[in-house]
Amino acid sequence: MLILKSVTSLRDCVARQLAVRVPCLSTCNYRRYSNETPQKYDIAVIGGGIVGAASARELVLRHPQLKVALIEKEHQFASHQSGNNSGVIHAGIYYKPGTLKAKLCVQGMDLAYKYCDKKGIKYSKCGKLIVATERAEVPRLLDLYDRGLRNGVKDIQLLDSQGIREIEPLCKGLQALWSPHTGIVSYAEMTKSYVQDFVASGGKSYLKFEVKKFIEAENAEYPVTISDEKSLKISAKYVLTCCGLHSDTVAVLTGCPEEPKIIPFRGEYLYLVQNKSNLAKVNIYPVPDPRFPFLGVHITPTIDGRVILGPNAILAYSKEGYKYSDVNMKELKEIIAFSGFRKLATKYAGFGIKEMTRSILIPLQVKQLQKYIQEITSADVERGPAGVRAQAMSKDGSLIEDFVFDSKPGSSAIGSRVLHCRNAPSPGATSSLAIAKMIADKMEEQFKFKLRT
Ligand SMILES: Cc1cc2nc3c(=O)[nH]c(=O)nc-3n(C[C@H](O)[C@H](O)[C@H](O)COP(=O)(O)OP(=O)(O)OC[C@H]3O[C@@H](n4cnc5c(N)ncnc54)[C@H](O)[C@@H]3O)c2cc1C
Repeated sequence: MLILKSVTSLRDCVARQLAVRVPCLSTCNYRRYSNETPQKYDIAVIGGGIVGAASARELVLRHPQLKVALIEKEHQFASHQSGNNSGVIHAGIYYKPGTLKAKLCVQGMDLAYKYCDKKGIKYSKCGKLIVATERAEVPRLLDLYDRGLRNGVKDIQLLDSQGIREIEPLCKGLQALWSPHTGIVSYAEMTKSYVQDFVASGGKSYLKFEVKKFIEAENAEYPVTISDEKSLKISAKYVLTCCGLHSDTVAVLTGCPEEPKIIPFRGEYLYLVQNKSNLAKVNIYPVPDPRFPFLGVHITPTIDGRVILGPNAILAYSKEGYKYSDVNMKELKEIIAFSGFRKLATKYAGFGIKEMTRSILIPLQVKQLQKYIQEITSADVERGPAGVRAQAMSKDGSLIEDFVFDSKPGSSAIGSRVLHCRNAPSPGATSSLAIAKMIADKMEEQFKFKLRT
């Protein structure tokens, strides 16, 4: 277990106290010279994406007597995966029955619709077609139908080519799976609404606070001090981390193993030009390639009236590498040094090169999309946004698909007080309210704080 002790000079300490970055919290990093005590919380939730925000909200709603803080390093919530995704409310078709993904997606979709109705958040239950365009895809499509039924996904149907055209007149395919309850929403808006609920229920939120250090404090009641290594510090009894792309780095800070390692994969989108947005009204997805956890390039209407096409899957050269030019040499070296990544890269070198070529040459991407809607031409598309997926990977190069939660109970004062959400890939946004309930149950059970309050 790695326990980091804070040591700084008096001069540094004074300088830091002068450099106040967040008005609500300014503390010195060196307790002996500090005349300010860190703010104290029963629970600190680190990471203001949709999973952290939903979990902080759930904890404070269940336990209004607890003091809970939500800490985010960026200047706004949902700055990374939660604000840069496809915006699809998934129904739960794809996931292996019995997995957390399958269970939490089905529950999460219902909770998401109820939440949006209650809060007046705009969504559309536009539905989704998963389309087989080649004979070889049909058995996999039938397997997906079976999975969907086993996962309890409601009202899914198999359609022939005529049935596909009745739903989406321009869409071509041999057979499709129709999921009428799949929808679209802005997950950035949902995240911000969760934060509003959290604050309205007494929670305290911090922005621009990057957690870089966990310090074992002398105070037995609040044994974990969380610090940005500069001027900010808070003390907590228990900690939950939901750090997405940085979940491995933050877990290591508390003595947890580096694995599962997070490898960032950028997903770039194209837009249909605005006057062609009428080419697709529903989500159109391919039958996924079982070798990869990604769902494949899809055609998705967005809640603000555009249509996005994508995302592809390209290694990002930084955890927050939204463009080819975003390179972080330290992170890139770590990725390349990781044996799991090297094994994956060797195995799928051909696929990676094809993805990069398609990323640069738009007509090649358009060709993929024409399998579904022949009318889309290169003149109808323009470059769109990008998101970066936190892909968890093990040392042997296998991609970890299910949600992963991890802690080191009993190993030290810090390790026994921290729970990490280490992997929350798609459909993590759809499932956020269900994940939050599961995390709150887990924390109550593991930390017994229900009994202490
Ligand atoms: C391209 C793409 C498409 C997707 N499409 C869908 C979809 O259609 N439907 C769906 O359900 N899901 C989708 N997903 C998945 C979904 O977006 C994620 O599952 C979800 O957003 C994960 O949320 P999170 O809170 O775990 O991570 P994030 O949103 O990445 O949040 C983590 C937060 O932690 C903060 N943080 C990190 N380190 C620190 C630190 N040291 N101190 C303080 N803060 C820190 C980060 O700044 C960040 O805000 C998609 C994802 C991507 C990338």
